[in-house]
Amino acid sequence: MPHYADFHRRSIDERDAFWAEQARLIDWQTPPQQVCDYSNPPFAKWFVGGTTNLCHNAVDRHLAARGQQNALVAISTETNTERAYSYAELHQEVQRMAACLQALGVKQGDRVLIYMPMIAEAAFAMLACTRIGAIHSVVFGGFASSSLATRIEDAQPVVIVSADAGSRGGKVVPYKPLLDDAIELSAHKPAAVLMVNRGLAPASLRAGRDHDWATLRASHMDTLVPCVWIESTQPSYTLYTSGTTGKPKGVQRDTGGYTVALASSMRHIFQGNPGDTYFCTSDIGWVVGHSYIIYGPLIAGMTTILYEGLPIRPDAGIWWSIVEKYKVTHMFSAPTAVRVLKKQDPAYLSKYDISSLKALWLAGEPLDEPTATWISGALNVPIIDNYWQTETGWPILTLCNGVEQQPSRFGSPGKAVYGYNVKLIDEATGEELTVPNQKGVVAIEGPLPPGCLQTVWRDDDRFVNTYWKSIPGRLIYSTFDWGIRDADGYYFILGRTDDVINVAGHRLGTREIEECISSHANIAEVAVVGVADQLKGQVALAFAVPRNTTGLETPEARAALEAEVMKVVDGQLGAVARPARVHFVTVLPKTRSGKLLRRALQAVAERRDPGDLTTMEDPAALQQIKDLIS
Ligand code: AMP
Repeated sequence: MPHYADFHRRSIDERDAFWAEQARLIDWQTPPQQVCDYSNPPFAKWFVGGTTNLCHNAVDRHLAARGQQNALVAISTETNTERAYSYAELHQEVQRMAACLQALGVKQGDRVLIYMPMIAEAAFAMLACTRIGAIHSVVFGGFASSSLATRIEDAQPVVIVSADAGSRGGKVVPYKPLLDDAIELSAHKPAAVLMVNRGLAPASLRAGRDHDWATLRASHMDTLVPCVWIESTQPSYTLYTSGTTGKPKGVQRDTGGYTVALASSMRHIFQGNPGDTYFCTSDIGWVVGHSYIIYGPLIAGMTTILYEGLPIRPDAGIWWSIVEKYKVTHMFSAPTAVRVLKKQDPAYLSKYDISSLKALWLAGEPLDEPTATWISGALNVPIIDNYWQTETGWPILTLCNGVEQQPSRFGSPGKAVYGYNVKLIDEATGEELTVPNQKGVVAIEGPLPPGCLQTVWRDDDRFVNTYWKSIPGRLIYSTFDWGIRDADGYYFILGRTDDVINVAGHRLGTREIEECISSHANIAEVAVVGVADQLKGQVALAFAVPRNTTGLETPEARAALEAEVMKVVDGQLGAVARPARVHFVTVLPKTRSGKLLRRALQAVAERRDPGDLTTMEDPAALQQIKDLIS
């Protein structure tokens, strides 16, 4: 087994030879002519000239050897349903969905927006798109109409695939009214909407635009839809993520590079083998869901579990009962979920036979040491932290135990993953920090490895200016995270350098929430900051200045306005973006030039020292916030 340091070094110093080897892990219709074209930095083109298909590698490729093996098991503790699809059945369902999309006019290169709960049809829709070369754009089902509208407008989908409703903790959330509102709000109108009816909420279909999936599917039961061979650099999907402005960015992923990156990660990071069972508790609306619920495990010929429900319903043993029943070998979750489980009766962990489990991977937010220690003791398997972003599509930092077993250090997601030339940079000078334990911005020297974003959808300038120009004098990719590296190459992530916050592993732009709150008629100004929270890592707190304070003297009146503001956030962005509290103040802390002192505000909200305040306009502003927090 090669030593990991050599493996990583080769991936950088002998980049093309290294990735040419990895490219053999997947099927190509035409082999690539050039491994990496980096003649126009920072735009990297991977496996140029090669043609392949993501759906072929995830589904068709396995038919001969494992057609009868379970490919996808959809479990819902919300509807108490469970359905397994073999690779042969998945192949058939994906073709039916692809035929429906084609019947609705979808062609290669068209966008299809998928706004769905965690049901098998969502996976069929994603795979059907990549099968026919349509670009999917999955929007998290927890987002409400205005978030959805922005994404519809940007992606300009020909078709939207949706469902009557999602369900969370037993509460049905109808999707159709949100979708109808979003289409109404958006300047772009899709030609058709394909609706999956789960029988959870009545959904009226608009004649001429909306189609019922079951009816359309019935006329395509035996339609064969072959995979379209796609040029490696053609986009496979876009996925929106929050940034520092209110406008979400469409992260654009290629086809060949992504397929190779995932295939390679399944081997070197996850040590996944065909026939293993992978249970990732994320959601298809997030990047982890794309890579490690749908594509990664299927590319590796594993069985993947798609789970709709909470980790503690019907009780806190539900995940472990799934591990026992399906002999789950690989599990992937987020620290928040583990912190939720930690508060439950530990007896649930010993109730089931979980001896099939080889390791638990956790990502999405910092994994604190007490949580890691607790779950490690409870499961008695390696707990492997991994750090990455929507933009990268697969881990930047972790331990590649498929290359060399290395000990975990709790609090650290591990070392730079092969292919990533990770550097710590001094924010002010742009210089590389090479001495151990110095704090800097975590940055990646180009080209980004296969699988990472190619660009921002339809906005090359935004891609370059946002990610590659933030460090003075250098064209280098910024993660916008602070980090340090110890003498052995283990990194520690210390939080964001920008206004993005992370609530329970979900990334939210504070500006987006502020814009939404400001749309309330009685809010003049608002600042949203992320503050530390024991369970969710961070929560959003809003400090708002009302336009009219008459009538707001009583706690009841303020509580009523707070509830109204939260309702606006729920309605426009979704409950996922709802602040934990909305506090009302008369003035926000600003500099004399009018710039919001966000870091000082956050410090006070976390009961920390706000630091140097000499540039502050009105010192009373922070005092008000201190009084509210205490
Ligand atoms: P997202 O694009 O939603 O996956 O969010 C990416 C951001 O989440 C990163 O830039 C980090 O701030 C944070 N993050 C993800 N994984 C980890 C981790 N393992 N440890 C610390 N922070 C993480």
